[in-house]
Amino acid sequence: MSTPEEKVRRLLAQATSPFEEEARTAALLAARLIAQYGLQVVDPVKREPVKREPVKREPVKREPVKREPVKREPVKRDSSGLFVRIKAKYTGRCKVCMGVILLEQKVWWKHGYGCVHDECMIDDVGGSA
Ligand SMILES: [Zn+2]
Repeated sequence: MSTPEEKVRRLLAQATSPFEEEARTAALLAARLIAQYGLQVVDPVKREPVKREPVKREPVKREPVKREPVKREPVKRDSSGLFVRIKAKYTGRCKVCMGVILLEQKVWWKHGYGCVHDECMIDDVGGSA
């Protein structure tokens, strides 16, 4: 004894029969059974949208570089007229640490000397200026 579901399944398969009369009858019987048993017909392809869990990506945690605040007296240096605090117009090298100076980075600049990092200013250059 087959269940109504199995019967309906078989009938629906028959409903695609190339023999029109057989197909029609099968479809009709299937429809009756479906109604009779209150079955639900589900498209096996579209049945359930596959739920995709969004890929959880840990946000990249960037620890801010902690720098000890350097105590300096920029006014003194400015008024000395030697070093000027500017935004770097070119990439280059710091004259003190030879580190890279990036475009737009705030640096100290002196004509004929070059650029020095903010943080390199005090100890090596600033004092003598
Ligand atoms: Zn430097």
